[in-house]
Amino acid sequence: MTNTLYFRLLEEIQKIKIVSTHEHIMSRDEVRQEPLHLFRVFENSYARLDFITAGMPPEAWQKSDPQEVWEVFRKYQAQASLTCFTRNIIRALQDLYGLEEDCITEENWPELSEKVRQAYDREDWYHYVLTERANFEVAFLDTFWSVEKFTFDPELFLPVLRTNPLILGRGFVSRYPRGKVVHTTVEKLAGTWGVELDEFQDYLGLVEMAISRYKDAGAPAVKIAVAYERSLVFDRVSRDEAARLYGKGPGALTAEEEKKLQDFMAHYIIQKATEAGLPVQIHTGILARNANVLANSNPENLNNLFLDYPETRFILLHFAFPYIGQVFSLAKMFPNVYLDFCWVPMLSRSAAARALEEFFDLVPYHKLVWGGDAYRVEEAYAGACLAREVMASVLAGRVERGDLDEEMALTVARAILRDNAMELFGI
Ligand SMILES: [Zn+2]
Repeated sequence: MTNTLYFRLLEEIQKIKIVSTHEHIMSRDEVRQEPLHLFRVFENSYARLDFITAGMPPEAWQKSDPQEVWEVFRKYQAQASLTCFTRNIIRALQDLYGLEEDCITEENWPELSEKVRQAYDREDWYHYVLTERANFEVAFLDTFWSVEKFTFDPELFLPVLRTNPLILGRGFVSRYPRGKVVHTTVEKLAGTWGVELDEFQDYLGLVEMAISRYKDAGAPAVKIAVAYERSLVFDRVSRDEAARLYGKGPGALTAEEEKKLQDFMAHYIIQKATEAGLPVQIHTGILARNANVLANSNPENLNNLFLDYPETRFILLHFAFPYIGQVFSLAKMFPNVYLDFCWVPMLSRSAAARALEEFFDLVPYHKLVWGGDAYRVEEAYAGACLAREVMASVLAGRVERGDLDEEMALTVARAILRDNAMELFGI
């Protein structure tokens, strides 16, 4: 492809004000609660996972003295240096903090660390990075660690209700690594909102309350991310059966009974979200936080829901990577199945470009949106740069082949980064 065409498209794509449909960005206050230094930027982003996969002991990240983190970090940096998660943070440090090298060194880290601390002293730091540098209009925020509180800046974010605690139920204990943030529970949610969870009806009432409170707070969607804990096969279970299982109490259920009750709750949440006019985002594909069961996240598991709920707008996140063929087939088959390639460019620039190319072959482009899926503003910024570059390169290739002209290429880019989300989520 000719470089000038690519750069011309990229320049225009950079002007598009993004509606990022999926982020987890920690509040500035939360970030500042911890001893703030350079390595926290890696720790609070996906780069942490690749260092752990490279062999770094997870607890090494938590050391409060940055010198101690550096002593461990330096041993794994080379192995993790090529992955997109790591490159993404290095790029953010280059663009936002003036890092000149392509890695962290004994010489550069103390000064960078100081710059990070100073940046977070700025009241306008998030606005500067997200609005001025990443050119975001707004971002959807999934704060799974505090579903019961709305601690977001309404200028920058819209809250998405993460329904995991409501599906997983009382007394739920995860078998998988949690990362450093503690997930909220349904007991905590009920306690904060003053709901007693005695009768099954109370529990169902809590679901309705959660959906309506989030909707009133401007939520554009609800999210199901239970592939982190169990399979996405949600069988139909009668209300009487679910009430009977609920009545046995959380400690008394077999694994099979627990799944049945959760299956009922997932269906109930989908029904109530649909009644409230809210689309349902579902995490599909590769799971963050290292060790877990990949097959749980296969989007084929959801097929029955698409047949049962033709009125519901389902958005399958992350192109279900690596189940890309499956997710494209589902989006092609069902008018109400939409895709979000949030996180994909950050997982792999080359996989994202190949996938986008295939997506255009298979699915009408109005069914695609994008989000960053980042935990830190630095990560969100670099993720947005990558997404724009991937789109510019794929679209430039299509223009060269004569599939569309430059004007149409920009229409498609604007649709994916902005207009489709506005339409789909009714913003
Ligand atoms: Zn996410």
